[in-house]
Amino acid sequence: MNSLTLLVRPRWIEGESWPGFLLRLSNANELPGISWLASWLEAPVAQLLVERPQEVLARLGYTASDAPAVQYPKQRMQALRAGEKGEQRRARLLMQGRRLQSAVCPCCLSGDQTPYVRAVWERPLEVGCTIHQRQLLRQCTSCGKKLLSTRPRLTECSCGASLLTQSVPALGTAWTSLLHPFGLERRTASDETFQPIPYREVVATAALERIALYERQQEPVKRKRRVSAKLDAADLGLALPWFTSWPASFARRYRAALEAGRGEGEDRRTSYIQAKTLFAPMFPRLNKVVRAVAKELNYRPRTCLQLGVQDYLACASQSVASAAKLLGVTYPRALWMAKQGVLAGSTQVSTYEMQIPTEAVLDVMARLSAAEDWRVAAKRRGCKDRAIKQLLRIGLIECIPLGDKGECRVDPDSWDAFVDYIVSVAQPLPGGRTSFFTLDAVIGASQRPTPDPERTARIVQAIACGTLPVYARPSNPDRIDDLLITPEELKMTAPRHV
Ligand SMILES: [Zn+2]
Ligand SMILES: [Zn+2]
Repeated sequence: MNSLTLLVRPRWIEGESWPGFLLRLSNANELPGISWLASWLEAPVAQLLVERPQEVLARLGYTASDAPAVQYPKQRMQALRAGEKGEQRRARLLMQGRRLQSAVCPCCLSGDQTPYVRAVWERPLEVGCTIHQRQLLRQCTSCGKKLLSTRPRLTECSCGASLLTQSVPALGTAWTSLLHPFGLERRTASDETFQPIPYREVVATAALERIALYERQQEPVKRKRRVSAKLDAADLGLALPWFTSWPASFARRYRAALEAGRGEGEDRRTSYIQAKTLFAPMFPRLNKVVRAVAKELNYRPRTCLQLGVQDYLACASQSVASAAKLLGVTYPRALWMAKQGVLAGSTQVSTYEMQIPTEAVLDVMARLSAAEDWRVAAKRRGCKDRAIKQLLRIGLIECIPLGDKGECRVDPDSWDAFVDYIVSVAQPLPGGRTSFFTLDAVIGASQRPTPDPERTARIVQAIACGTLPVYARPSNPDRIDDLLITPEELKMTAPRHV
């Protein structure tokens, strides 16, 4: 690169874009655009744009060069020539996009004492001016051409039309809510001076375009020609509702997208919107929401969302997921039931997959439909949760276990028969005695310090045989908590330490 001492050397303005500054510099020296400056320096325009600002400024006769030390990813630019692939190609695209695209806010420019291009205006997600709440101008309204950094004059399109007087549609500021989820907060003007477009923002734009594409559904995939091109207004309108009340709005729509899948009618596939298509791992905030939704969906019946009950029952055996769907329980619960033998005849296929006979599922389905939740059953007949757990442990009452913690569904007939029998053997409360325990407290306490089904069984057996008398407080007892036991008689039947 040549050296060149310019006659007029304007100072950069805080927040100014590098191509914008070079354009302003050219104009101040009566040069029609960056390409002329580049030819005087005997360097390609692309090099001028990706070179470090400090070096270029030194070539142009700036002495005490305290220009912002901006580092362009120049290494990657050179490395990609040989065998370019993936990341490198993207870096090159990024630089190419940077070379040409430009956007301005006509209102800001016409209000400037010295019109200059803000660095943030070149960012792919910067679609509007937050001060004037209007879209940024990207296309000359007079000739329809795209605005490029290589135009001859900063405030004019190459067709000669002034950019200062062109009108752009109003936009508001809602679009700024797109920045936070992608971790793209804007810094102060001085920190933005000469900054290039971050790769992360280019990817964020691609993710937003994919969301917009998903919202459109029917249209064919439209590829971006230039990576630094801005999100267009239509895409913005479609993607924005995902971010307006972050993160709830995003989580809701993302979940719906995953569940709905792709395609029409019977032909359903996995959703177009996925963690990988949104590049979620690159954006910590976005990734957090995406992972939370995925985790939540994992605990639901999967793979079988589109098939009907008939389709399952036609098979001889079921997967855990389909059993969960048929039984109306969660996936881990179905897995537990298969492993514990509640679903008889289940065989292990792999760590998380079982083969469950359809007959076993049907059998449990029938029993479940008639059964009652154990808490509801306990409450209905005046029994504490602790006590009914003990009674269920001794196996007299029919129930379908659903988990390790004692969750189950109880057969109401068997439960009522048991309670009715215990109540029927109760005697009227004798006079003169003052000290009593209620029966459900005694049964509930028999699990302390460790569950002891033996002792519970002894108590129940003694009541049934008449060796442990139970007394009823009202004359017509109906519930377990109506029944009383004396401490002395209890001690004789079921002492704590045998
Ligand atoms: Zn403005
Ligand atoms: Zn024009």
